Order: sequence, then structure tokens, then C-alpha cells
Amino acid sequence: MLFSSIVYGPIRSRRLGVSLGVNLMPTTAKLCSFDCVYCECGWNHPISHPQLPTRQQVREALNTQLSTLNTQLNVITFSGNGEPTLHPDFLGIIQDTCALRDQFCPNAKVSVLSNSTQLGRKEVVEALQLCDNRILKLDSAIDATMQLIDKPVNHQLTVAQIVKHLEQFNGDFTLQTCFLRGEYHGQTIDNNTTKELQAWYQVIDHLQPKQVMIYVIDRETPLKTLEKIPAQKMQEIAAPLREKGIDVIVSV
Ligand code: SF4
Repeated sequence: MLFSSIVYGPIRSRRLGVSLGVNLMPTTAKLCSFDCVYCECGWNHPISHPQLPTRQQVREALNTQLSTLNTQLNVITFSGNGEPTLHPDFLGIIQDTCALRDQFCPNAKVSVLSNSTQLGRKEVVEALQLCDNRILKLDSAIDATMQLIDKPVNHQLTVAQIVKHLEQFNGDFTLQTCFLRGEYHGQTIDNNTTKELQAWYQVIDHLQPKQVMIYVIDRETPLKTLEKIPAQKMQEIAAPLREKGIDVIVSV
């Protein structure tokens, strides 16, 4: 499923409420630094000259939507056909969005769903710090599983690097994890074994995110062997965190 415009919705999101979506990636193909086995946009395909919207086009599209909207928005969400922080003008776009939000819907939050791969870039961190919610992905605290589920374009990426970059937010972010099981080219994918969960809880203890968001696959996925984790199991995963007073959102 691909979004065919820069601004889409508003839609009622499972996790965020009434959300106006913003897609900074091409409208004809996914562009991402991961290639997650569960990605609702499908697998990555090589794109020779990706057409990204300009900062001005994003500002104009948002201005048009926000100035004519007759619904109460909870959130303006950057997500779309890939990784929004890959956009070279991400910082300027977030600055524009915050200004338009203040003008037209001051109660709405500005949120970014990101895969955490670009947090080594200063301007990306600066942009995310301007937002109300940084929802940052960590699908496994074990390298081999993260590589198997997220298939990073940079094969050298490690969990330790991601964790180091997440430390910059001093806990002021939401950590999001998709739980799933399946099989990929003869290898078992399962990020909810005891060993996986122990490592994941340890990372959460270390990072102390203000919120943890866990969810299951909801739509068609590019890898067809994936199974949805039962709701009861998801609540069991959340329970030890809740006992420690951590805010956990479970979307099933
Ligand atoms: S990070 Fe998001 S957009 Fe990128 S491949 Fe994974 S699910 Fe798809």
C-alpha cells in the first residue's frame, strides 16, 4: 500500500487518534533505510532518481489541508512511503509544520514515526526535538534478529549504535516495537522468545523511554509467512513494564 499524495487523511489511527498524515517520500515507490519483512508499503525496489516533494510543496499542501479542515485533529504524523528523516530538508519541513500547527490547530501534536537509522545526523535530531512525539523503532535488542526483521540497507548497523543514538533524547521519546513470528529463507523470525524479551527489557531499563508502543501486524505484509501475535501474549509482554510504571500502548 502506497500513499499517493504528500498529505493524506485525516485518518483514525490505532495508536495516535485522528491523524493527518504527511508523506515526504515518493508517491510511486517506497524509499527506506530499512526493508522490514512486515512493511505495509511492500519491499524496497531500486529507484534511480527518487522524486521527493520540496519543502515548499510540503508547506503548501499542509497549508491547504489545515486551513480547510473541519475536524478536530489530534496529531500531524510524519510517516508515509518510507523513512521521513531521509528527506534532505527534514528540519525545515518540521519547522514549517510546527508554525502551521500553531496557526491552524494549536492543540494538535506533531509526531514522527522513524526507524531510528538517521539519528547520527545532527539536523535530524534537532528536527525531532522540535516535535511533540518522537516514535522511534527498535524491533529487537539482538543484532541478528534486528537484521532479519528490519533488513537495514546498511548491513553494518548494530543495536548498540541505535541505542547510543537513542540516548540523545534522555528518555523523551516513544520506543516502538512490532512483535511478530515467521520464517524467512529458512530462518525463524521470532522477537518474542524469552531471550529476545530479556534483551529488549534491558534496553528499555537503560533508555527509560517515556512511553513504549507495541503492536502486531495489521495489514498485508510482503513476507507471507508472518503470524500475528495473540492479544493475550502482547499483554504479557507489556505487563513487566507496566509493573515498573512505564506507560505502554498495546495495539492488537
Ligand atoms: S521502517 Fe517503516 S517504512 Fe521502512 S521498511 Fe520498515 S516498516 Fe517500512
